[in-house]
Amino acid sequence: MKPAGKNTPPKDAAARRAVKPVICYPVDTLPQPDMAMVAATRDTLEMTETIIVPPRDARTFTVPAGHFFKIVSVEGPQVGDLNLWARQDLSEKFYSGKTRALHGTHLGVGDRLWSGFPYLRPLATITYDTLDWYGFDAYGGGVHDVIGTRCDPYTGRLLGGTDYHHCCHSNLTRALAAETGLPLLEAERHVHDVLNVFMCTGFTRDTHQYFMKASPVRPGDFLEFFAEIDLLGALSTCPGGDCSTEHSSDAAACYPLEIQIFTPEPETLSGWSSPRPSAYSRGHGL
Ligand SMILES: [Zn+2]
Repeated sequence: MKPAGKNTPPKDAAARRAVKPVICYPVDTLPQPDMAMVAATRDTLEMTETIIVPPRDARTFTVPAGHFFKIVSVEGPQVGDLNLWARQDLSEKFYSGKTRALHGTHLGVGDRLWSGFPYLRPLATITYDTLDWYGFDAYGGGVHDVIGTRCDPYTGRLLGGTDYHHCCHSNLTRALAAETGLPLLEAERHVHDVLNVFMCTGFTRDTHQYFMKASPVRPGDFLEFFAEIDLLGALSTCPGGDCSTEHSSDAAACYPLEIQIFTPEPETLSGWSSPRPSAYSRGHGL
């Protein structure tokens, strides 16, 4: 956090501070999802697969383009850390930083999960959120953030001096290695910053530090996505449970999460096509 300033404010400090902010990335020109098509397609969905993610662990799943998936709370309040890749190319992965710059700190219906450079296309669109009533609370907290990273053993070692192996980073690494057959340390390089599903987070008003509080999620709640391209996903059940106290330990009560995959009637997608990677020339000025 920023320390108290040592320098005397200039005479025009108040005027400089009073300058109005502008939105970095106005989204008026951002290609919008076809939510009418999504609504029509949702009516035809048939659940074709379910995967249970055990507590303090992770599982992978695949979703063909044009299909839907849900992350569902079961048994008790539990936060999930989500990674997404292009099914055939692990180098195309979810870019939480650019997603945050485009859509804000917390995601909701109609927001997309964007892939990194040089692709920068929507991997998935959020199509339903049973926690959309939560909004932002009196502390500035909201659910489904893209401001955290994922709990990991390196920060645990840095701050606590101990090794804990069931952080989301390690859970996702083991699951990706098992899915792909990659050596563990190679799989680890593909694990990236997450969408914190169901997690309730924000920045403190005074020090602007990242905070978490007990997730409002309850069994039966879900977050639903439309797969814009063929996806490989991995979901970790955070060892923080509902993230009300601590993570990176076995202290919190943890519960499973369920992933449900849904297949639509193909004709409902007749007017839809999977987004292409960015059309930028990649000349970079040379
Ligand atoms: Zn975690």
